[in-house]
Amino acid sequence: MLEQIILKGAYISQGIAIGNLHFDKQLQEDMIPEFSIPQSEVEKEILRYRRAILSSRRDLQGVQHFLAKEGSTEAISIIDTHIRMLDDPLMTTVVEAKIRQRLKNTETVFRSVMTDYEKEFSKGKNNFFKQRLIDVKDLSKRILRHLYPRESLETKEIPKNSIIFARELTPSVAAQASRWQIQGFITEIGGKTSHAALIARSKRIPYIANISHNLLCSHKGSLTIIDGKIGLIIINPSDATLEKYEQKRQNIQAKEKKKVHALPCETKTVDGIKVEVLANIDNLLDLDLLSRHSAEGIGLCRSELLDTQLHTFSENDQFILYQKVMEKSKGMPIVFRTLDMGGDKGNTNQHQPEPNPALGYRGIRFLLRNRNIFAKQLRALLRVSSRGDLRVLLPMISDLEELHLAKKIIQDTASELRLEGYEIADDIPIGCMIEVPSAACMSHAIARECDFLSIGTNDLIQYTLAADRLREEVNGYNRLTHPSIFRMILHIIQEAKDQATPVSLCGEMATKPHLIPLLLGLGVRKLSCSPHSILEVKKCIAKLSIEKLKSFTEEVLDLETAREAEEFLKQSYEKSISKAKQRKKDPSFYAEDST
Ligand code: PEP
Ligand code: MG
Repeated sequence: MLEQIILKGAYISQGIAIGNLHFDKQLQEDMIPEFSIPQSEVEKEILRYRRAILSSRRDLQGVQHFLAKEGSTEAISIIDTHIRMLDDPLMTTVVEAKIRQRLKNTETVFRSVMTDYEKEFSKGKNNFFKQRLIDVKDLSKRILRHLYPRESLETKEIPKNSIIFARELTPSVAAQASRWQIQGFITEIGGKTSHAALIARSKRIPYIANISHNLLCSHKGSLTIIDGKIGLIIINPSDATLEKYEQKRQNIQAKEKKKVHALPCETKTVDGIKVEVLANIDNLLDLDLLSRHSAEGIGLCRSELLDTQLHTFSENDQFILYQKVMEKSKGMPIVFRTLDMGGDKGNTNQHQPEPNPALGYRGIRFLLRNRNIFAKQLRALLRVSSRGDLRVLLPMISDLEELHLAKKIIQDTASELRLEGYEIADDIPIGCMIEVPSAACMSHAIARECDFLSIGTNDLIQYTLAADRLREEVNGYNRLTHPSIFRMILHIIQEAKDQATPVSLCGEMATKPHLIPLLLGLGVRKLSCSPHSILEVKKCIAKLSIEKLKSFTEEVLDLETAREAEEFLKQSYEKSISKAKQRKKDPSFYAEDST
């Protein structure tokens, strides 16, 4: 019988983990060769460097994709900072200039630039810089791995049910860890505010730091327990200890499950007004999150993201894919948007190069110009229409005529399929994205001629404020709180109401707690957002009183700049939160807190 050993470290992420100790192989950077290159090789080296940056970007996007499945919103934004760091001049122009200057191989130049940078950062006493230092190190390791592939902690190679011991935990390793494979983390160095810690917490992976290598080195592979709440590590637990912790772990899991299921599917404000919260779906795995997050349906299925090559799929391959979507949505209403190609969604082979793709052949314009692609998607889609509650949404409508044309094509396709003997649902609702200012202005007519509207604030903001949603440099102009956007939303809602046409709002705005009171005040009664934001959005709604929002909304509509509105909305939100916390009677738009 092995002796039970108890160690105490610093707790970083709560929870109970039970697994076998697995040691990280440290990256052997010293083995990187250093050599000179002739002038004639410089451009080749630079090309190799750019490829490594590109591959790192792809890796990180893959990591984000993985995190999106898990609903780790916080972790996604951390990886976002890594992606943005790849565009930093230090990573691009500085390294390239140094390769030209020093005439050394890329790995050598890159590592020396990064070492100088790390030295600068480590001088800083404050935690923020220290935390950022780990991010820089993590990113430079990733780039080096692409330049000079060697052994490192590859999550793919880790056995199931492992507890990882590493000198330091990097955000990328934490981000790629899945709970069935990695039960917990132990490190020598690590702080509560590190990005890796935030990721571990958001994924509920227990994590303890401040344990030296010497204490653990003779216990590789040993059965180990982590009690993240008190920073306890138990190696070779006795049967009684193991049983006690198994029980504790089960209790925690049961509690977590209960929490998620505690929220009713239907959401009402305090004064009893129903507000629907639906899910935006970008891939098949998102569909598995619907019931877990109490989605009331699918408010937007971005078909172009189901597969980037969807436009090249045959009718039958699309039919098989849409069948899966229908099966997984289990009879819930599903708003399926036809391909929104072009602009930020990327061009197809059919696209000619455009100087300004966002203003070119995007969405419905592309579909009406490439009828074969539109018809193929519609045929596949209509063939699954009788298997659930399907609604068809048209992207980037900027003129009523586009709606007329698209409706005619949909009706003709349905008749054609019926003649061929397919069972097609009667009266499939057809809706329009309102995401171009011309459509917002004409929403009375569009609402009259279609079955529902969906306000796409991501694009409505981009096109109204003339600020590219993809360009970091003009981000300051792309303001969610611009008063023009509030007025447009109000206008669309009122026009649609006159026509008795339902409206939902499906842009990023729908996920921002400080904007939800205003959206409800403007009359929005249906929001669609990413599945992992649903819970928070529902909680916000359940605390609001529509009656109390009236004067608040009027006050917001009097504001004239995005900055004023942002400050006002944030302050009102923070005030309401602190009041709710103090459990005082709340005079603002939030009703008395009942939690
Ligand atoms: C929008 O524009 O707000 C929207 C929801 O569509 P997408 O983000 O896919 O363009
Ligand atoms: Mg859009």
